[in-house]
Amino acid sequence: MYVVMIASECAPVAKVGGLADVVFGLCRELQLRGHSVEVVLPKYDCMRYDQIWGLQVTYENLWVPWDGGRIRCTVWFGFVHGLKCFFIEPHSFQHFFDRGAYYGFSDEAQRFAFFSRAALEFMWVTGKKPDVIHTHDWQTALVPVLLYEIYAGLGMGDQRVCHTIHNFRHQGVVGPDLLWATGLGRPEYYGARDRMGDEQDPDAINFTKGALLYANFVTTVSPHHAWEARHTDQGCGLGHPLHEQQRKFGGIINGIDYAMWNPEIDPLIPVPFNADTVAAKEGNTQALRERLLLRDAGRPILAYVGRLDPQKGLHLIRHTLFWALANDAQFVLLGSGSERAIDADFRHLKQELNDNPDCHLEIGFDENLAHLIYAGADFVVMPSLWEPCGLAQMIALRYGTVPIVRACGGLADTVFDWDHSLRPQSQRNGFVFEHADHEGIESALRRALGLWREAPALFRELQAQGMRCDYSWRLPAQSYLDVYDFIRHR
Ligand code: ADP
Repeated sequence: MYVVMIASECAPVAKVGGLADVVFGLCRELQLRGHSVEVVLPKYDCMRYDQIWGLQVTYENLWVPWDGGRIRCTVWFGFVHGLKCFFIEPHSFQHFFDRGAYYGFSDEAQRFAFFSRAALEFMWVTGKKPDVIHTHDWQTALVPVLLYEIYAGLGMGDQRVCHTIHNFRHQGVVGPDLLWATGLGRPEYYGARDRMGDEQDPDAINFTKGALLYANFVTTVSPHHAWEARHTDQGCGLGHPLHEQQRKFGGIINGIDYAMWNPEIDPLIPVPFNADTVAAKEGNTQALRERLLLRDAGRPILAYVGRLDPQKGLHLIRHTLFWALANDAQFVLLGSGSERAIDADFRHLKQELNDNPDCHLEIGFDENLAHLIYAGADFVVMPSLWEPCGLAQMIALRYGTVPIVRACGGLADTVFDWDHSLRPQSQRNGFVFEHADHEGIESALRRALGLWREAPALFRELQAQGMRCDYSWRLPAQSYLDVYDFIRHR
């Protein structure tokens, strides 16, 4: 199959968050299975150019229709860890992608609407006819609309689109005048409630709603989150349109990169181990204690690795820290805040606890330390208020670190409670709680530490079971291929 991904991020060359990892991980798995995959990205000035091999101009004068005129673009080609990538560089006074950052500008909708139009124009002029075009999040949600309304009539009528929503909180909501710039025009037609009209703002269009209507299939990043998006406020206003399009909407869990996250060969941890030698993990626990100056008191280590964002259940992370200290456990946190106030709050907490030999807070982003924490901790806590998929719990499982999670989004699809689950005992891999309050998380913490202290052999079994779960891209890639096949033959 021939697949073209159009996205605003791809790891490691242009990465802000999980979207980048998903685009890269899925592409790599599809390629390994013999499919032909290409990625189209903006050519940001702030990209990791050291991660691109053989970067060269592949199309000199791509004139992209825009705002009643045309903008000249240069298209570059290079390999990102073996993946074929095209980078679109517009030459215009707006400097869409020459701003020293990926996101955060007032004309965000224009920037990515232009990119969507440019990606299709490039495919059209170069005669690319993939079986499937896969777009991601609001930034490229106009692609299926433009494809159907403009490029189908120019010979691209056979191309099918799969659109993935990674984050319902950002949908691309903007005034309908932008439609003139894209070449679609007719704001009164597209802005109607049953097309791209935003559900909450009657004077705005919504890119993601456009993708919902025009794409041949729409996915989000876990089956449980797909359910939440339709039936709870997690859909952020898209519940009704999702309901209407339910026949072409579903959830596919993300995978993690099993080459990068592999405790048997991870160069960032001192003692390699696998599910049969899980006791060797202890060597990494010692290394973690030494690195973070924790005392060696035979206490279990609870950890949190992730963004310090209200989404992650910050009050429960804080509560876990103090609960751990009061219950003869140790606590390690590695995270950075998305807001200055949150960052400051946790720095203050760090200062307060500076002399405590049973906890360590590291405020910042540190890939190396993250590997050591996953390898050395006994438990990872994820009390998220919402979590479309979540990667940290899957990484923890891979490293024999038992996840303690709230039952939401992808956490509910990947972690199965040791004591209470519909799954057979042999498939249970962690501890799960429902309510986002102190009692909720404490009930899981008590059971988790109880097993660690009173039944070490069973605890080892639980760790090994977690390590044997397969959360690689193998199954998710197959699910995407099934979707591609489904839309190709409809
Ligand atoms: P989200 O995408 O909401 O941030 P995920 O759990 O899906 O959360 O993915 C977060 C990823 O980023 C994980 O791989 C986690 O290890 C990593 N990560 C998050 N914060 C940090 C940090 N401060 N230092 C190192 N790695 C981090």
